[in-house]
Order: sequence, then C-alpha cells, then structure tokens
Amino acid sequence: MGYSVPVALALPTLLSSCSKNGQDDDGGITPVNKFKDYTVVVVGAGAAGLYAGWYLQERGFNVKILEASDRVGGRVRHLSGFADFDIELGAEEIHGNNSEWYRIATEQVKAKLNDAAKDDFYFFKQDFADQNEPALKSESFSNQFQEFAKTMQFVADAPSYSGADLTVENVFSTSGISWNMFGVANGLLGNEYGTSNNRLSIKGLAEEDSLWSAGDESYELKDKTMLFILETKFAAILPKVKKNTQVKKIDYSGTKIVLTDQADETYQADRVIITVPLTVLKGGDIQFIPALPSTKVDAYSNIGMGGGLKAIFKFSTAFWEGITLEKLGSVIGYNEIPELWATAVGRGTTPILTAFIMGEKGEQFSSMTPEDAKGFLLGHLDNIFGNNTASQSLQQDGFYLMDWGKQPFIRGTYSYPKVGGGLIFRKELAADVDGLLFFAGEATHYEGHNSTVHGAIETGIRVVEEVEDSIS
Ligand SMILES: Cc1cc2nc3c(=O)[nH]c(=O)nc-3n(C[C@H](O)[C@H](O)[C@H](O)COP(=O)(O)OP(=O)(O)OC[C@H]3O[C@@H](n4cnc5c(N)ncnc54)[C@H](O)[C@@H]3O)c2cc1C
Repeated sequence: MGYSVPVALALPTLLSSCSKNGQDDDGGITPVNKFKDYTVVVVGAGAAGLYAGWYLQERGFNVKILEASDRVGGRVRHLSGFADFDIELGAEEIHGNNSEWYRIATEQVKAKLNDAAKDDFYFFKQDFADQNEPALKSESFSNQFQEFAKTMQFVADAPSYSGADLTVENVFSTSGISWNMFGVANGLLGNEYGTSNNRLSIKGLAEEDSLWSAGDESYELKDKTMLFILETKFAAILPKVKKNTQVKKIDYSGTKIVLTDQADETYQADRVIITVPLTVLKGGDIQFIPALPSTKVDAYSNIGMGGGLKAIFKFSTAFWEGITLEKLGSVIGYNEIPELWATAVGRGTTPILTAFIMGEKGEQFSSMTPEDAKGFLLGHLDNIFGNNTASQSLQQDGFYLMDWGKQPFIRGTYSYPKVGGGLIFRKELAADVDGLLFFAGEATHYEGHNSTVHGAIETGIRVVEEVEDSIS
C-alpha cells in the first residue's frame, strides 16, 4: 500500500564505498583530524540532510544544517493525537530489508515492524473483489476476471518494458485491456510512483526498477514513528540544525561560499550540501552565484515531481469490515481515490482510513477548499462502501488533509521518471559543481532508490564521500 515496491539492485556500491572512507573494522566511524578545519553547511534537514550532517560531524567536520521550516524530517512527518496511534502523513513504509535505513530502524533504534502487505481489495463497477479469490467474492468481478487478470499482468510486466519512451497510460490504452481497469492500473503504477499513469514514463519506471536492490518486502513501524527513528539516530546533529532558515542565495564565486537566508543573515562555508526537494530547485527558490551549469538545469527539468495528498478520515466504526467480508487492507482501483487503506491495522484501534491520492487526481482535490475536498472525498467513500455509510460514520473533526503540494518548502510528493527523462538526469542532478556544491536528496539517487527514505539516506552517504574526496 501507498508507494512502490519495485525489484532489483544498487546499495552495495554506496555502502562499500562508505565503509572504505568512513568506518573502521568494527563499523565505528573514525574522525579525521584535518576535517576540523572545514565547515560544511547542509541545506535541508530531511532524511538526506540529517544523515549527511550527522556523518560529516562524526568524521570531524564543522557542520551546520539550515532548515527552512520549523521542523526536521522534511517529507517524514506524522499526525499525533488524532487516533490512538500516530498517523504517518508522508513516508509510511520501509521498503526492503537491505538498506542502511532498515538497519538503522531495526538494529540501532530497535523499532518493531509490521509487514505492510495487507489484503488488497480491488474496486470497480460498484463492487469489491479480493485478488486471491475473485470468483467467490463477486459475480460481476468474476465476469470481468479476464480483464482484471490482463491488468495484473500488465502491471507485472511494466518493470521489464523495453519499448518506446511513452507514458504508462499511452501503453495501457493500446494494450486492448478494458478501460474499466484504468483505475486498477493507475492505483498500482502511477499512484504508487507518486504521480498518475498519464505522467509516468513506463520506460523510466523499468530503468529504475532494474536497479532496485533493497528487497521486495515492505514494513511499517508498529509503535514508533519514522521521525522518531530519524531523531534518535541523528540526535547528535539536531543541535546543529537552525530551523526557520530558508536559504535564498548561495554565492560560490569567492574563496568562501556565502549563503544568505530570508532574513539576510549570512553563513560561510567551505563546502555546501544541497538536499532540498526537486521542486525547490525547479522553482528557483535559491539564487546561485554564479548560476548553476545548464546540465544541472536540464537535469531537474527532466525529472518529474507533482502534487499529491493523504486525506485521513476518522469514523465511529470500522464499517468496512462487514462490507468487504474480511479485514480490509487496501482498496485499489477507484478512479478518484486510487488507493485507500485501513490505517490502524497492526498499530491501533481507532477506525481510520487513509486516502492516498497522487498526481493529477491529488492536484484536483488540492485545487478545492479543504471543506469541498472533504465533501467530495466523502461522497466517493459513500460510493465505494454504499448507503452513505462513510458520511454517517465520520466523527466530528474526523478529517485531516495533508496536502504535500501546498507545503511551502516541499511543494510535491516525490520524484518520478518523466517521458524524455532517465537516470542519466538523476546522475547529472547529483554531480557536484566545482568541488564546492554537492547535491543529495531522494531525487539525486541514480541507482534505483530515488523517491524513498532509504534512497535519501543513501544519497547522504554518497555525498559525504564526495565532500571528503574533494578535500583529500
Ligand atoms: C505522501 C508521501 C508518502 C511517501 N511514502 C513513502 C514510503 O512509504 N516509503 C518511503 O521510503 N518513502 C516514501 N515517501 C518518500 C520519502 O518521504 C522521501 O523520499 C524522503 O523523505 C525525502 O527525503 P529528502 O531528505 O530527500 O527530502 P526532504 O525530506 O524533502 O527534505 C528536504 C528539506 O529541505 C528543506 N528546504 C526546502 N527548501 C529549503 C531552503 N531554501 N533552505 C533550507 N531548507 C530548505 C525542506 O523544508 C525539507 O525539510 C513518501 C513521500 C510522501 C510525500
């Protein structure tokens, strides 16, 4: 549920090079005396920035992290006090067990995990169906089973696509599969990749998936939050984070790099690591002096990142359990709400549903007032579950909208491959400028783990290695 689980390989290069540079034989980190003469400013305190800042400090650098918002974590964020468990508003799953992020969560912070795989129900033509027992669940589903099976095959084949560079929707529309299955294909592909099928490049998806090495399982935290893991692991660097400090200008023309924030305060650095979301680079929020090279501009222009939201509903009863016959995991395939899941499973008891709406549909709801969005979304839930059940069961103050496109320093969900793009652009985005400016953050992962927390962490590892190499 909620976010892609592709297949393949990338981590070994990053981690082996990290241990080559930074770790002794026991896995401890050895500080290097000469690094104490260098000041590195990290822009952004999300997963990538926190990892990079923490690791640099362990290696002996002077570090400062400048963060535009009033909190750390970036796209890792949760809602407390709404239910009897904390609800993740951004990243929710740990993808795979072969990553530094997984090791931090389980071995270092010792968080307990739930297997995120739940029963998926597919919804179309006013009916539910369980993928495993389609014929038993519904007659209308059974009648359409051939089309559904073809759609599932289309989704399974997407990672090995080798044709022309087209959107998923272009290829789906010429596949001969019934358009009734549009929502299922969009829920399983476009929406999972943080966008919609009419924007996602199927070739780019295949290219990225071919490098995935984190493992196929996905996990959720049972009784901790993602932010707790970050704040526990990176506790030593948190005092060095200056919040409410939006970097507006980076002048790297002189012997020292000079950063200027929104209040015209300046900071000097020998090296700067930029971890801001892609949209912030695209939007020109930071003025670079001299201007960034055209390869960098090409790079961020050819990677996608759009809006999306999580809408959280709190009900008086878990009415869906009776309707779907079994305990609900996710509902996938309803056009307006591409993915919906029962959020409390394994974590709490408050009856919560999370609607996960990325890309075009997410932006449509985002353009409404929150009250209108709530009304329309509830109407859709009533359509899914029937009999005004959702509207009648919604608790007072039982709606919370996390609209990522409207977060001023994030302005979107996570990066995705566009038609005409490709990993080559992520590599360009990651490249340093003059050995002075270094780039990290999920969108700069060019070995298949972009768009994830573990990918962001891995870029933090990579970038520290690059900073060290620029000095040695
Ligand atoms: C709805 C949603 C669901 C997701 N689900 C998952 C999931 O289940 N599993 C998973 O692994 N990943 C998931 N992700 C993706 C994951 O959250 C991101 O890939 C990851 O957190 C990005 O980390 P980052 O450090 O690259 O960027 P960010 O977390 O965005 O950090 C960048 C920081 O830079 C700051 N900043 C911006 N501009 C400036 C400036 N000018 N000056 C100073 N600071 C600035 C921002 O405020 C932010 O704190 C999800 C994301 C979203 C939005």
